[in-house]
Amino acid sequence: MSRVQQVTVLGATGSIGLSTLDVIARHPDRYQVFALTGFSRLAELLALCIRHVPRFAVVPEAAAAAGLQDDLRAAGLATQVLVGEEGLCQVASAPEVDAVMAAIVGAAGLRPTLAAVEAGKKILLANKEALVMSGALFMQAVRKSGSVLLPIDSEHNAIFQCMPSDFSRGLSAVGVRRILLTASGGPFRQTPMAELEHVSPEQACAHPNWSMGRKISVDSASMMNKGLELIEACWLFDAQPSQVEVVIHPQSVIHSLVDYVDGSVLAQLGNPDMRTPIANALAWPERIDSGVAPLDLFAVARLDFQAPDEQRFPCLRLARQAAEAGNSAPAMLNAANEVAVAAFLERRIRYPEIASIIDEVLNLEPVVAVNELDAVFAADTKARALAEQWLQRNAR
Ligand code: NAD
Ligand code: MG
Repeated sequence: MSRVQQVTVLGATGSIGLSTLDVIARHPDRYQVFALTGFSRLAELLALCIRHVPRFAVVPEAAAAAGLQDDLRAAGLATQVLVGEEGLCQVASAPEVDAVMAAIVGAAGLRPTLAAVEAGKKILLANKEALVMSGALFMQAVRKSGSVLLPIDSEHNAIFQCMPSDFSRGLSAVGVRRILLTASGGPFRQTPMAELEHVSPEQACAHPNWSMGRKISVDSASMMNKGLELIEACWLFDAQPSQVEVVIHPQSVIHSLVDYVDGSVLAQLGNPDMRTPIANALAWPERIDSGVAPLDLFAVARLDFQAPDEQRFPCLRLARQAAEAGNSAPAMLNAANEVAVAAFLERRIRYPEIASIIDEVLNLEPVVAVNELDAVFAADTKARALAEQWLQRNAR
């Protein structure tokens, strides 16, 4: 590798952002932080700027920007603070940037991630919602710009590692029969169904194996996360939904598998620590130290597998339906889920109502073609409005 790579970290204050900065800090000879962005935890963003000395920082609005700019100056830093979505798109597409970690959570990450794609950057994609919402357009933009798209989601990174390098020729052309997408089953895998009515946001966020942001933690509890990942896998690997099978594997040691026509099944294993896929994508096709401890198979001792129960996890069924319907359905699914999860985290609804809201939104609104980004955002807006209407009607 020739020169130090300039990296923009979108969503630097989040769980993935912090893990990314941990890996980057281990390799100052390879990576330099070009820009860091944050949304609410601005004291943390300041601390990260002091530690990583980026050229730019991005915050959501002007007053916060002025405050951060003053603090940065007082700390003797020349970091320039930019504002809002425009600032995000600017640091995602700046000519100096080599790689962009897309780690903003939810639909808010779509435009900045697409800006990085259109500028032909190497994309480290954690923000699965962006791809779920706009799959066809996103992949078209990747092909057009020649951007290198590397999955950060541990499952998709595992699949990527188990695929032959020419998988873009098509799954059947490279002898792949199906993709086995593993899922931990989350904190409610064995909770008696009757108790699910009363589970709290804290219980939903207490994931048995992974430490993550609150939204994805709730998605993992409901298995909507696996549903979004199913859609993500279809776009990344040009698979049909029927070629992606979800397998519950409670230990989260196998991060996913690829099943070939000759009967070979390749898997990627490792400790559940996002620094492994992050390091893999940052250095690809090389390998670098991630700080993750070696896997101790004797401590793991056993690996279990079971089929998901769609009665327990209706969100998985809804996501599969949206994957099969395609067009605007995944954007609607994602938007309704974002509203429902936020309402659950605010204790406005019970946990099983997350699925009820999404189900209603998908039933009320017909699926339409999405040939441009405006249509994606229209579907997103419509679904949010319908989900809000549900909340108004059923306000507690
Ligand atoms: P998080 O909540 O910890 O962090 C989210 C980041 O996005 C923060 O930096 C926050 O400031 C920023 N952000 C939030 N709303 C924003 C907005 N409206 N505009 C701009 N920035 C905003 O989330 P996370 O767990 O780090 O997840 C980030 C993404 O990575 C998600 O899409 C998630 O699905 C995906 N992902 C996370 C993990 C994980 O282990 N945490 C694993 C796989 C995929
Ligand atoms: Mg995942």
